[in-house]
Amino acid sequence: ENRLKREEESLAGKTTDGREIHLFANVGNTGDVKKAVNFQIDGIGLYRSEFLYLNSSYFPTEEEQFLAYKESALLCGKEITIRTLDIGGDKTLPYFPMEKEDNPFLGWRAIRISLNEKEMFKNQLRAILRASAFGKIKILFPMIISLHELLKAKEILKECMAELSEQGISYDGSIETGVMIETPASVLCAEELAAEADFFSIGTNDLTQYLLAVDRGNAKIAELYNSFHPAVLRSIRLVTQAAHRYGKKAGMCGEFAGNEKATKLLIGLGLDELSMTPAKVADIKYTLRRISYEEAKSLAEEACKQTSAEAVIRVLEEN
Ligand code: PEP
Ligand code: MG
Repeated sequence: ENRLKREEESLAGKTTDGREIHLFANVGNTGDVKKAVNFQIDGIGLYRSEFLYLNSSYFPTEEEQFLAYKESALLCGKEITIRTLDIGGDKTLPYFPMEKEDNPFLGWRAIRISLNEKEMFKNQLRAILRASAFGKIKILFPMIISLHELLKAKEILKECMAELSEQGISYDGSIETGVMIETPASVLCAEELAAEADFFSIGTNDLTQYLLAVDRGNAKIAELYNSFHPAVLRSIRLVTQAAHRYGKKAGMCGEFAGNEKATKLLIGLGLDELSMTPAKVADIKYTLRRISYEEAKSLAEEACKQTSAEAVIRVLEEN
């Protein structure tokens, strides 16, 4: 099996009946990109830009960010999706004091901070735009709960584009912007978000936490934290269906995307792309290449009808 896995690594990520699924890597910095390209990946599906900020003792300048993104784009040589700053929750910056919050995961986090701290956000967007002249880069906004936030973020991106044009600096004028689907609100607003976003990326780590109201880091209730829960599966289905109605792609970048036990289910739920830790790509591709999309769709329908995560897992084991 290991020999087969190695032999198939360079083949396309395709089901037995020809549905092609792109497999991407999740990374946190340029060093990770360097390592990830040693695996057979279609690109970087999630570049968690906050690590650039966490590993600095001050807000990284536009120039520093530009150089990091540019180097990553050049190293990758394929598409790379950069997620804008996702701090708050459990991640804080020593040089950016934040008031203590009773519920930081429900607090000032991710896009909420970016929209409030416009200059900081613009520095990052300008850096990403400048790097987009050196490779295929996409932008992903975290923790979106409404269309308003997406429109606001896109408006600020437009401002940055106008400034760069004014200065004669080149960038990809048709850069794609995507929404991370990781809040229940974004699932239920997927229809209107799909009309305005270029793509979706489902973040099951947070989506599971928020849908089930189960803290993703609390060991005491770890047993309740389960992405096989029908509420998670039905949410994924809603999101892929909304995306496809608008001709957009729906991917997944949470840990669930790298779980072979879920692959058939995820393909059946309609996902177009999976992004995971690079070491999992070969396993997922091997699994994927043995799945029939037609069968996966029936399996997903069956799974969505179940009443508990345990029942879903039983259905998967029987198939
Ligand atoms: C997620 O929430 O699933 C995700 C990919 O983002 P993070 O784990 O960085 O919160
Ligand atoms: Mg998240």
